[in-house]
Amino acid sequence: MLTQPNIRYLTDIYFEPGSVSVLHSVLAKYNIKLPLIVTDRGVVKLGMISKLGIANPVLYDGVETNPTETMAIEAAGVYAENKCDGIVAFGGGSPIDLAKCAAVLVNHRSPLEHFSAGLGGGSKITGDVPRIIAIPTTAGSGSELGRAALVTLNDGRKVGIISDRLMPSACICDPELTLTMPSLLTAATGMDALSHCVECFCSPRINPIADAISLDGLERGFKYIVRATHKGDLKTRAEMMMCSLQGGLSFQKGLGAVHSLSHPLGALTAKKLHHGTLNAIFLPHVLRFNINYCMDKMQAMTNRLQLKDAAQVADAFEKLCKELGLPSKLRDLGVTGEELEPLAEQAMNDHCTATNPRPLLIDDFRKLYADAW
Ligand SMILES: [Zn+2]
Repeated sequence: MLTQPNIRYLTDIYFEPGSVSVLHSVLAKYNIKLPLIVTDRGVVKLGMISKLGIANPVLYDGVETNPTETMAIEAAGVYAENKCDGIVAFGGGSPIDLAKCAAVLVNHRSPLEHFSAGLGGGSKITGDVPRIIAIPTTAGSGSELGRAALVTLNDGRKVGIISDRLMPSACICDPELTLTMPSLLTAATGMDALSHCVECFCSPRINPIADAISLDGLERGFKYIVRATHKGDLKTRAEMMMCSLQGGLSFQKGLGAVHSLSHPLGALTAKKLHHGTLNAIFLPHVLRFNINYCMDKMQAMTNRLQLKDAAQVADAFEKLCKELGLPSKLRDLGVTGEELEPLAEQAMNDHCTATNPRPLLIDDFRKLYADAW
C-alpha cells in the first residue's frame, strides 16, 4: 500500500549553456541574500567560484569524494557563524549531497544518523531546512534533482538521508560548467548517470512517466558518453548533463542492487573509491543477475540500444567500460577480499535493495561482490 505519492514532477530546472548567470535572479526569487556556497577544493582551484558572480562569497570547500558526517557538521557551523540564509550546492554529487546533510544540521540538533532512511528519519526533518539551489559541475549524480543524500556516518556506515524537504528549490544545469571535467571523471560520472537510468527503469515500482524518462536517458547517455569522455565538446557535455538529469528525474522509482553494492564500498573512506566507477563495475553483473526477473524491461533496453537480444545488454556495458578506459574489476581499484567480507550484510540493508527487480539474499550479494572482484 502506498504511503506517499509515487509520481510527482515539480522542480524548477534551468537547463542551457550559460545558465549559471540566472543564479542572481533565483536567489532573489527566494529572498536569499547571503548563501553558503558548499563546494570542493577542485572547483575552487579551477577558479569556478567567480562564475557564480557573488561578491565575497561565504564558502565551505572541505567536501571530498563520499562526504562524511564531520564535513556536514563543519559546513553547518560555517552557515551558522556567518548567519547565512540559504545554500548554493556547487559541484559534483558529493558537494550537493553534503549540502543537503548540512541543511538538516542547521536547525536540527540530533546526530545525523537519527535522520537516516533506515531509521525512518525522513519524517523527523521539519520544514525548518534552508533552501538549496543546486548547480552541478559534473554530469552524473542527479543529486541536483533528488531528495536523497548519501553520507558516511562517524561510525563508518554509509546511509541515505531522504526527505522531500531536501529537494533543491531550483537546479541550474549549465553544460559549460562541465567542459573542464577530466576524461576519467567524465566517464565515471557518466556511468553513474547511466546506472541510474538502468536501475530506475528496472525498478518494479509503478511510474511509466519515469520509465519513459529513464529509457530516453539511457539511450542518450549510451550514445554520447564515449564522445563526451574522449572529445568533450559542448554538444556531448549537454547530452550527458541531460542524461544525468533524466536519471535524477527517475529517482522516485528507487534504484537497485548496483547501488546497494557500491554504497558500502564508498564508505571505506580511506580508499576514496569513485561511486560512478564502482557502479560501472557492478552494472553488467547485476544485469545478468536480474535478467529473468525483468525481461520486459530488458527487451525494451535491448531495442533502444539496438542490440540483438537481452543477454547483450550486460555485454554492451562491459564493452562500453573498456572503451571508456574504466577498470572492470574491484581488484583493479586495490580492494581486497578481506575488505569485501563484511560488506554483503550492509548491501543487504541498503535502502536501494528493496527496489531491485529480483529479491536478494545475503549470499547473492556475496556472490555479486566475488564476481566483480
Ligand atoms: Zn549513483
